[in-house]
Amino acid sequence: MTTDAILNAVLEGAPGEEIGALPLPESFRAAFVKADEQEMFAGLPSEEKDPRKAVHVDEVPLPELAPDEAYVAVMASSINFNTVWTSIFEPLPTFGFLQRLGKESVWGERHDLPYHVVGSDASGVVLRVGSAVRDWRPGDRVTVHCNYVDDQDPSSHDDSMLAANQRIWGFESNFGGLAEISVVKANQLMPKPAHLTWEEAAVNALTNSTSYRMIVSPNGARMTQGQVVLVWGATGGIGAYACQYVLNGGGIPVGVVSSPARATLLHEMGVEHVIDRRAEGYRFWADEHTQDPKEWRRFGKKIRELVGRDPDIVFEHPGRQTMGASVFVASRGGMVITCAATSGYTIEYDNRYLWMNLKTIKGCHFANYREAWEANRQICEARIHPTMSAVFPLEQTGEAAYQVHHNLHEGKLGVLCLAPEEGLGVTDPETREEHLDAITLFRRNQG
Ligand code: NAP
Repeated sequence: MTTDAILNAVLEGAPGEEIGALPLPESFRAAFVKADEQEMFAGLPSEEKDPRKAVHVDEVPLPELAPDEAYVAVMASSINFNTVWTSIFEPLPTFGFLQRLGKESVWGERHDLPYHVVGSDASGVVLRVGSAVRDWRPGDRVTVHCNYVDDQDPSSHDDSMLAANQRIWGFESNFGGLAEISVVKANQLMPKPAHLTWEEAAVNALTNSTSYRMIVSPNGARMTQGQVVLVWGATGGIGAYACQYVLNGGGIPVGVVSSPARATLLHEMGVEHVIDRRAEGYRFWADEHTQDPKEWRRFGKKIRELVGRDPDIVFEHPGRQTMGASVFVASRGGMVITCAATSGYTIEYDNRYLWMNLKTIKGCHFANYREAWEANRQICEARIHPTMSAVFPLEQTGEAAYQVHHNLHEGKLGVLCLAPEEGLGVTDPETREEHLDAITLFRRNQG
């Protein structure tokens, strides 16, 4: 038995009972890294660690289903930066996460394998649900968010991102989304936006939810109307959703990018104030060990020239290269909200600017189910749009991760898993037609 019958049933729009009665295959194709290759890049600088060498696409056995889980026939997935980290084995190989999960429970043991199926996004169709699942059925068209939470843990019952054993699916757990079939907890499921194709629906959940929590949620910066928000990497995976949330919420985004083409893309999104960091030639680090406050000042002056004041919120994720500048330019009483450190996680900033001006640095990580659901609702209701610029077949997962690793992409990269071609899966063509320009903005700008 292969996944062909599943694909045919989905393409024909078979009813849920029929999909639920389909025999399950013993194996399926998936993108994974291998434990016995985790030292393959030892000693190389990060830029030379090549996801194309580490990511394999082949058949893997179908794991058993726990009572609170669902099998999802994955039509499409996307590349997130965590798949880059997994495939270059930085900052740590992810097999340690799988071993830790393996020690937690009988069901956790399934994850501790010599291969790690990667990917933290998916759109698709529910194939089967476990005996404890209430609200989802075979045939449901879904997207998947990546907050993997143990609801038996008391620490998960305030904000589940604070749970002691909170994990990111497909990064800190196995059986991720870059595969024909995925195993997810029922509390990761969300409705698929009906007006989007499978690949457009697949690219949002991780980055859109992250940006929602960072900008909108009380757990993040809780932006209010008229606030100025500096967004680093404003056409990147999280930045492009952040800009949309700032605009929707009546804020004033200042987007930082590194090329004229990206600046144009931002203008087309409705972001008026844009800084091309490469054209401006900022050198926040005079050398490897010393930052240059004159450059922070020059950057702050540019922001004031554009919007007339300092940013109330700085949407921070590049890390070491930019954090000193971010803390410096944030307004008196302002907030630097950070979820990452792509360019290095040992951060240096001048603390005098922080305490004397009563600024806050706040850490943020993905989103709880409620936040992911709200963020997905914005997509379903066409208030936030996907930022997909290109689509790859599953076989080219390594190439797609390579492009993200080297900042060659805009927005998000989609990956077709079971979907045989792009453009399928739309069940609300009217809404799609109404918002087509916004939905396809990043794709069209890719040339
Ligand atoms: P991405 O698609 O690669 O976008 C990052 C953007 O950052 C790029 O478009 C680039 O824009 C900018 N950038 C890269 N290096 C920079 C530097 N040295 N200085 C200034 N800007 C730089 O990645 P992403 O999906 O947005 O993710 C960004 C980071 O957030 C990654 O480290 C990722 O792992 C992390 N993340 C964390 C969470 C979480 O829940 N904690 C969730 C999602 C992502 P320009 O070159 O145009 O300026």
